[in-house]
Amino acid sequence: TVECRDIRKVYGALEVMRDFNLKVDDHEFVVFLGPSGCGKSTMLRMIAGLEEITGGDLLIGGQRMNDRDPGDRGIAMVFQNYALYPHMSVRENITFGLERSGVPKAEIESRLAPVVESLGLGVYLSRKPTELSGGQQQRVAIARAMIKTPEVFLFDEPLSNLDAKLRGSLRVEIARLHRSLKTTSIYVTHDQLEAMTLADRIVLMKDGRIEQMGTPEEIYQTPATLFAAGFIGTPN
Ligand code: ATP
Ligand code: MG
Repeated sequence: TVECRDIRKVYGALEVMRDFNLKVDDHEFVVFLGPSGCGKSTMLRMIAGLEEITGGDLLIGGQRMNDRDPGDRGIAMVFQNYALYPHMSVRENITFGLERSGVPKAEIESRLAPVVESLGLGVYLSRKPTELSGGQQQRVAIARAMIKTPEVFLFDEPLSNLDAKLRGSLRVEIARLHRSLKTTSIYVTHDQLEAMTLADRIVLMKDGRIEQMGTPEEIYQTPATLFAAGFIGTPN
């Protein structure tokens, strides 16, 4: 579980998040959906520990995480720009985090094999990220997250740099991985189609707060506000 209790965030005098209350259940796929600047990345980065929380409590697996290091939260994050190390091979990019945390070589190898297999990365292991397409680079970034076997996956617009066809196929792959790994996922996007197809539950955000929360069907059928109706589509 990931629990956000009354989370608030200010940058200087600017309040960018307020009254953010959410409980993400185990194995749930939650999508943060909303227009540019509404605070999706800020909220995700607070969950990841990459951004300080101004007020409220963040709990992961029932433990308070506000002051816990990112590496200590049982999460792994996939970024829009892949954020791979350009000087390292694909293999090193995937295993570097485990090596740094002192996981034994033999265990790294045994964890690497199924991850590489499930993302079809076998033939690319010795290449550098610059020798890969965008979709392949994002697969490497997903592999790097997967090999940590996190409790919770965080995705920040992982598909938005890819062309429409690749977006579709990687979206299906992310949904499949979420199910097969029985993980908990929080996925940020401003793309309604992605939200509708991936989410168990959509958290619709506007101006640093939650506008509406529900299954894709609920929000589509019964938008609570004009904003929700306009953003998700028109009600019947
Ligand atoms: P996008 O869809 O464009 O990625 P977003 O929903 O992820 O948008 P955020 O990046 O979370 O939006 O930004 C939320 C608000 O916080 C914006 O008004 C932004 O200008 C502001 N903001 C983000 N980071 C900082 C920062 N480091 N300092 C000051 N303001 C910031
Ligand atoms: Mg963002």
